[in-house]
Amino acid sequence: MPSKERFAEGPVALFECLQQIPCNPCADACPRGAITVKEINDCPSLNEELCNGCGICMTHCPGLSIFVVDYTYGKEVALVKIPYEFSPLPSAKEEVDALNRQGECVGSAQVIRVQNSPNKTNIIWLSVPQELAMEVRSIRLRKEERDGAK
Ligand code: SF4
Ligand code: SF4
Repeated sequence: MPSKERFAEGPVALFECLQQIPCNPCADACPRGAITVKEINDCPSLNEELCNGCGICMTHCPGLSIFVVDYTYGKEVALVKIPYEFSPLPSAKEEVDALNRQGECVGSAQVIRVQNSPNKTNIIWLSVPQELAMEVRSIRLRKEERDGAK
């Protein structure tokens, strides 16, 4: 987990990769060399000063275990980038249900950007209330929003 001081500086990656499985594509993908997986079964460790929150590692993680949080995004809102492999994709400006790690709705989020990835691990940028930045890890599209978008 990045330090409080690092969060105050801007976007940074968070690893929720707790199972010690033989895996390391995140480390190979980071253009800044910010991720280290010492032994193949180790959990990744992040050099938080090298990370700029670009999110490239997220698209290479088969476990969908990497997120980016930016507390400097707004006064009361934070930016949370989540990996997303469902279809349909949401659209920018869409309001969606914000889900926690258990899949429970904890509030509302606004989609800021949808970053398509060739390997289908897309990245959704969400604006969420700052107090939910450490909770929101997925989304659920709202039927009424989808119907309105047709
Ligand atoms: S967010 Fe970007 S800079 Fe940070 S660890 Fe991932 S790939 Fe590297
Ligand atoms: S790619 Fe994902 S699952 Fe694999 S070690 Fe990195 S964070 Fe963990």
